Amino acid sequence: MGMTVTMAQPVGTDPAEASEAFGEAARPRRPLALSPSRASDFKSCPLLYRLRAVDRLPEPPSPAAVRGTLVHTVLEEMFGRPGPERTPRRTAEAVGPAWERMAEQCPELVGMLPDEAMAGWLDSARDLVRSYFRLEDPRRFEPQACEYAVEIDTVDGVPLRGFIDRLDLAPTGELRIVDYKTGRSPGPDFEGRALYQLKFYALMIYRLRGVVPAQLKLIYLADGLSLQYAPSESELIGFSHAVGALWRAVTAALESGNFPARRGPMCRWCTHQALCPEYGGTPPPYPGAPSPGALSPGPPAAGAPMTVVGADPIGPGVTAGTF
Ligand code: SF4
Repeated sequence: MGMTVTMAQPVGTDPAEASEAFGEAARPRRPLALSPSRASDFKSCPLLYRLRAVDRLPEPPSPAAVRGTLVHTVLEEMFGRPGPERTPRRTAEAVGPAWERMAEQCPELVGMLPDEAMAGWLDSARDLVRSYFRLEDPRRFEPQACEYAVEIDTVDGVPLRGFIDRLDLAPTGELRIVDYKTGRSPGPDFEGRALYQLKFYALMIYRLRGVVPAQLKLIYLADGLSLQYAPSESELIGFSHAVGALWRAVTAALESGNFPARRGPMCRWCTHQALCPEYGGTPPPYPGAPSPGALSPGPPAAGAPMTVVGADPIGPGVTAGTF
C-alpha cells in the first residue's frame, strides 16, 4: 500500500526524536524492549544504542526535545477538554501553564536556556501548537486515546514498547494512528526513518488488536504538513520478521558487548561524541548485558499459536470522527 507525503522539504530529521526522553537515566530500569527510537538508534549506530539503552548515560535536555514534550503535552490536554473549547487561541494559551508544571516537576529543565531566550522559545512552542490547526479541526472528532502506552511481543517473542500520540477509531471501525512531530517534514534521506516508525506502531496495534490500522498519519508541526501511510497485512508480517532479525542482532551485541560506532546523520544530534571512537574518544567499559530477566524470553516454539502478550487497556467501542 502507498505512502503519501503531502509535500516534502529537504530538511533534517526532528531533533526532538534524537533522544527518546531527556530524563531516561533517572527512571528505574525496565526490561529491555525495542521502541521505534531505540530500534532506529541500533540501526543507525550500535554504540549510540548501547550508551542510551544499556549504559543509560544522561543526556542534557535539548531545548528542541523539551519543546517537543511540551507541545505533545498541550495537544494531549486539549483533547481532554470539550470539543468547543479546542480552539487555537485557548490551546496556545495553555503553553505557558503547561511549561510551568513541567519546570516544577523537572527543575533541571530550568536554565536550559538563558532567561532572555525563554520568551522566544515559548513563542515557538505556541507557533507549533497553532500550526496543528492548519491540518486538523479537533472540535470535530474524539480520539479513542492520547499518549497510548503499548507493550506487546511480536509472534517471534520480540518485546516492543512505544507511546502512540493518538489513536482514532472511525464509526466504521477503522483505526488511525497519529504521531506529532515538532520538526519539519522529512526530505528523501529521512523518509525511511519516518516510515520505519509508522510501521513499528502499526505492527504493535496489529498484534494488540488483530486489526491492520487503516491509516497512519504523521503531522509535522514546523511546516504544517502531514504524511499518511496505509499499511497492508503482508507488509506488517514482513516488517515483524525484520524487527525479529534486528532484536536478534541487539541480543547478540548485548551478549558480546560489541557495539561498533557508525558515523552517520545521527552524529549531528549525538551528545556522546566525546566518548565516541569516531571522534577520538573512548567509550566507558561495557557494563555487561542487563540481567537475563531483562532480555527477551526468546521466540516461541515453531508452530506455536499467535499470542498477544500485552493487554489492551482500552478495548474497542469508543467512536471517533471519520477519516
Ligand atoms: S557520535 Fe555518531 S558514531 Fe559516535 S556514538 Fe554518536 S551517533 Fe554513533
